[in-house]
Amino acid sequence: MMQPLRYLPLAQDVLDDRTYDRGKPGFMDDIMHDPDTSVFLVSHGLVAVPRGARLHPRLALLPAEYVRDAVADASGALAMFMGTHTVAGRTKNYVAVDVSRVMDTVPDAAQVSADNDFGETADTGSSAADLLFAERASSRFDWCDLRDFAPNTTALDAGLATRAISLASWHASQRFCPCCASPVETVDAGWAQRCTNEADRNRMLFPRIEPAVITMIVDAHDRILLQHNATFPGTLYSVCAGFVEAGESLEHAVRRECFEETGVEVGELRYLGSQVWPFPASLMAGFVAQATTDDVHIDDIEVSDARWMSRDDLTRALANDEVTLPGKAAIARYMISQWYGKEL
Ligand SMILES: [Zn+2]
Repeated sequence: MMQPLRYLPLAQDVLDDRTYDRGKPGFMDDIMHDPDTSVFLVSHGLVAVPRGARLHPRLALLPAEYVRDAVADASGALAMFMGTHTVAGRTKNYVAVDVSRVMDTVPDAAQVSADNDFGETADTGSSAADLLFAERASSRFDWCDLRDFAPNTTALDAGLATRAISLASWHASQRFCPCCASPVETVDAGWAQRCTNEADRNRMLFPRIEPAVITMIVDAHDRILLQHNATFPGTLYSVCAGFVEAGESLEHAVRRECFEETGVEVGELRYLGSQVWPFPASLMAGFVAQATTDDVHIDDIEVSDARWMSRDDLTRALANDEVTLPGKAAIARYMISQWYGKEL
């Protein structure tokens, strides 16, 4: 059976969370006035990078004092403390600002992309500060998808961007209390929300995380079972994955998903590692499972093909373009590479 995965681009964790500090009154204000604080922007699941740096991307970092007033003035900007990083005795704080709602005030900026230049502004009733912020954000930076960014940058930047996009996507999807429908306010420097309704005891709300299992099934001949799902594009093949259901253990979810999707029963399991997958809120737990049966019965609804492959089979299939593998941000890619014996 395989060893745990050593590297996963969306699982970088080199930051001090300062969990006990971030809930204190005035913490965010102090951080934004600290000369050792840097700010970066995220919007609609994308991260701002310096112009022209998309091949070897890094975060576009701004000194907090440059953007502090603009962030405070822009009504839809959400500042979130990302952590403190200390290297060689030098401490730096990082703050992410989600500008999705600000960018929505500019018609063309909602779909920010590498080619997006700020164009004409329509009168949307938004404040001048929002428009100015959105104009600067869309014209000064390139915007990079986390799946392209994380595998090609440093561990620190990958960790910062993954945290920021995970949190921002939760705030974007939950603006009201799920229990009483009152508005919520952001607390704990972005890491929690509080219901504003006293009758609901100002209920604390924490980010929603949806656990999923991803399982590489290996048989007695050390072949791997690769599957093509109906929703997969082209010749993409991957391993078996699915959400953990309410009241279910990870191990049970692995056995259930393997059997439901491929008809294969599995025996021994080994945990390989986990990775956040904030599209929008998954946490992927990776396993390798030993098949106890070889017969494959796909459901033909979710899965349209599944085949046992030796390393030689996979080498040939990749060379002939019969099979393409998941991208370099996906945990599946690293699981398959680990079985294959070298980076794919
Ligand atoms: Zn409530």
